[in-house]
This record gives sequence, C-alpha cells and structure tokens, in this order.
Amino acid sequence: MKLVERIRNHPLNVNSKIVKEDIISINNHRIYLLSIILMLIHLAHGFIFLMYDPGFKSAENVHRWRIGVAFTHFTMFIIILLIGGTAFILKQKRLDRGRVANYLQFITIISYFLFGIVLSAFDQYVNAGINAFISVCIGIAVILFMHPIYSLLIYVFSFIFFHYGISLTQSNQNILLSESVNSISVIGISFGIALIMWRNSIYKIFQEKEIDKQNQILEEQNTQLEFLATHDSLTGLLNRMEFMKRTEIEMVRMDKSKKEICIILMDIDHFKHVNDHYGHPAGDQILKEVGTLIKNLLGDKYFPSRLGGEEFIFLLPDKALSEAMLIAEEIKSAIQAYLFAVGDETIIVTASLGVASLNMEEADPFTSCYHRADIALYEAKNNGRNRVAYA
Ligand code: GH3
Ligand code: MG
Ligand code: MG
Repeated sequence: MKLVERIRNHPLNVNSKIVKEDIISINNHRIYLLSIILMLIHLAHGFIFLMYDPGFKSAENVHRWRIGVAFTHFTMFIIILLIGGTAFILKQKRLDRGRVANYLQFITIISYFLFGIVLSAFDQYVNAGINAFISVCIGIAVILFMHPIYSLLIYVFSFIFFHYGISLTQSNQNILLSESVNSISVIGISFGIALIMWRNSIYKIFQEKEIDKQNQILEEQNTQLEFLATHDSLTGLLNRMEFMKRTEIEMVRMDKSKKEICIILMDIDHFKHVNDHYGHPAGDQILKEVGTLIKNLLGDKYFPSRLGGEEFIFLLPDKALSEAMLIAEEIKSAIQAYLFAVGDETIIVTASLGVASLNMEEADPFTSCYHRADIALYEAKNNGRNRVAYA
C-alpha cells in the first residue's frame, strides 16, 4: 500500500474512512435512542406551556413567550420523530455507516442549535435566560461525536445566529451584551468538551480495531497450530496421536452401539528401493502424493493417518471384516493405478495392506487388533506384496 493511502486509512487520522464510519454509526445509534426520550420531553413541554394559564391580565409578551415556547417544542417533537424514525430505519437496513446517516446527523445538530436559539429568543420575552442554548451546546458536545473542524464551524455560526436571535426579542442592551458574552464562554467550553469527546472516541475505536485485529491473528494462528498438532506435515493426513484420539472416541461409541469396527494397516512396498533409486526428495514427493490420493479417494472417512515412515492406518467404524477387505482392495488398486511423477519419469508404486477387526471383549481391543493387522500385513508382504490380507 502506498504511504499516502496508509496515512489516509490509518485509524488515528481523523479523516480515516474506518473511524469515520464507526463514528457515524455510534451517532446514529445515539440519535435513535435519544429521540424517544426527546420526543417525550418536547411533548411534555409543549403541553405544559400550552395549558399554563398566565392569568387574565397578563401582558402580551407573556402570551407570546408561552405560545412561542409551546410551538417550538411541538415543532421539535415532529422533527425528532422524523429524525429518530430515519435513524432507526438506517440502523435496520444497515445503512447507519453511510452518507445518509451522516447527513441525518448534520440535520439533527443544526435542528437542535436552531431550537436552542429560538427557545432562548422566546425566553427573552419574560426573562434574561439562555438556558436552552446552553443545554443544546453542551448536550451536542457530549452526545454526538463531531469532527473538530465541523464542530468549530457549527459553534461559531451558532454564536452568530444566537446573537442575532436574541437581539430580535431582547431590547435591553445591557442584558443583550451580558448574554452574548456568556454565550461565548458556553461555546468555548462546549467546543472543548466536543474536542475531548472526539479524541477519546477515536482512541477507543482505534484500540478496539487493534484488539479485533490481534484476536483475528491469534485465532488464525490457533487454527494453524491445531492443524499442525493433529496432522502429519508431509502428507496432510492425521498424525498418529490424533488417530489414537479419534480411535478412542469411536471405540466408546461402538462399544455402546455394539457394532463392528475394523482397522487397515498399509505399508508401501519396496520403499527403500524407491529412495535408493530416485533419492529421498522423490520418496517424499511420492508419500505426499499417496496422502493426496487417499484424501481424494476417502475424504475424511475412515480417519486416514500416517503412522510414520511409509506406513499408514485407517479406522473403519460400522464396518464388518468383509466390507473392510473391499475398502482395502479399493485403496490398493487406486495406488497401483496411479502414475507417480518422478522427475521426467512416471513410476508405479504398490502397497500391501493388513485388515483386522476389533474385538471389544478383549482386555485391550485396539492393541490386539493392531497386532493382528500387523501380522496380516506381513502375510501380504510374504505372499508377494501389492495385496490385501486379513487376520
Ligand atoms: P517393504 O516392501 O518390505 O515394506 O520394503 P520397504 O523398503 O518399504 O521397507 P523398509 O522398512 O526396509 O524401508 C522403509 C523405507 O522408508 C526406509 C526409509 O528410508 C523410508 N522412509 C521412511 N520414512 C520416510 C520419509 O519420510 N521419506 C522418505 N523419502 N523415505 C522414508
Ligand atoms: Mg515399513
Ligand atoms: Mg515398506
């Protein structure tokens, strides 16, 4: 990857696509959750101010304040209902990391700043309060993560609009000045909070991603290690230890079901001669191809394993001796029919196989059966090799 691209995609880069998407997704989730609470708050405020009776002789400005505040809350109720609904749909459709979700967050932030400004402006009819604007500034900083440049722009613009908004309803110049100055402090503090929140969230997401990545590597390494621990590295078949483990499991299973179980022992014929004639690397290649051939022939059926050297073993659960003999014949024929490539030549390799059936009545069924299969294998060798014998 080019350096520029690497920097661009680095999670600590605030423009990094990965972090950006995560942040948009977190914001979308928060908007959707908070929208439920906010809807209730807006409705409650709206009704309280609408029903509040300031008295028969109350001044005109009190009426304006009351109706203005109620109207603003009802409007905001509808806006947050639409925003929350959209955030929910985006989340359901897994679009909460995309462009639309980003715009939705922008709309939410602008709507709430306007809400704070309008409400503070209406408040000027009866008091010199800017609580609504303060709540919005700090609320947005704490709840939604914003890119520092966007948040700076938004806070600066909101100050301009705020100043303009309250000047429409506040005629007392002293109060206006005091409120404007106070709002600068609020904006400064809010921007600081927004910066800290942004930085923390970036670090948190970055760390989570690092941990995920490390976990994934560990998982892959574990899978690899597990394979290495249970398989023979040359042929890819099971190793002796794993074969014994599987055999024990199968024996317990078979003992309960009272079915038959057989083993096949296989030894490649005159392999020493192959090594002597073509060299050890060629011998290795042949062993490897025998492994592939067996896997292609049997798959994982019958637990094909390499015992060591040029000796292989198979376990055949649910098979009677006669069936095991047929399978052994099939393996023998497949090896015999295969043309092994050695350099430019192709050679034929054969194997001898000994088959035996497990007797669960015996004290150590596997060892006895293994011994019988070994005797059968020797018989096959003695009778001319490239054949199957049974005990
Ligand atoms: P038989 O038909 O009686 O089985 O004759 P054989 O030559 O196959 O038997 P022997 O036991 O005398 O020789 C086995 C040979 O297998 C000896 C050894 O060098 C070779 N061998 C064992 N493991 C490997 C291996 O991993 N790679 C290679 N290339 N050769 C191996
Ligand atoms: Mg041998
Ligand atoms: Mg041999």
